[in-house]
Amino acid sequence: MKEINIRTNSQTEMIDITDLVQAVISEKKIKSGICVVFTPHTTAAVTINENADPDVPHDIINALEKTLPRSIQYRHSEGNSPAHVKSSLVGVSELVLVENGRLVLGTWQAIFFCEFDGPRQRKVMVKFLPDV
Ligand code: ZN
Repeated sequence: MKEINIRTNSQTEMIDITDLVQAVISEKKIKSGICVVFTPHTTAAVTINENADPDVPHDIINALEKTLPRSIQYRHSEGNSPAHVKSSLVGVSELVLVENGRLVLGTWQAIFFCEFDGPRQRKVMVKFLPDV
């Protein structure tokens, strides 16, 4: 397993980590299998979506913000309940196929780390399950 450290810069943002994950695959000379990308945080997430148009991650963040307004009566005393709910909705992991040493992603797809309660120092774990 490889740990990737990420420093986020905003309260909410989506950071393209595709190249960082690919670097783990390339470094280990992995050829074929499944890559697990997991973040061990309760107010962050990992997702796959379009990176070609920066309006797409902007719209995702905006839609989540509108769906989960701070005006909802939350009980959690830390004050970051919308971030916890966003983490559960988006999810903390993704599986990506690996073939010929490359992540198998669609033309417009990228792996994003999603920060919902930053800025913070964050971690993403990458684990590879080779073909048997
Ligand atoms: Zn909290």
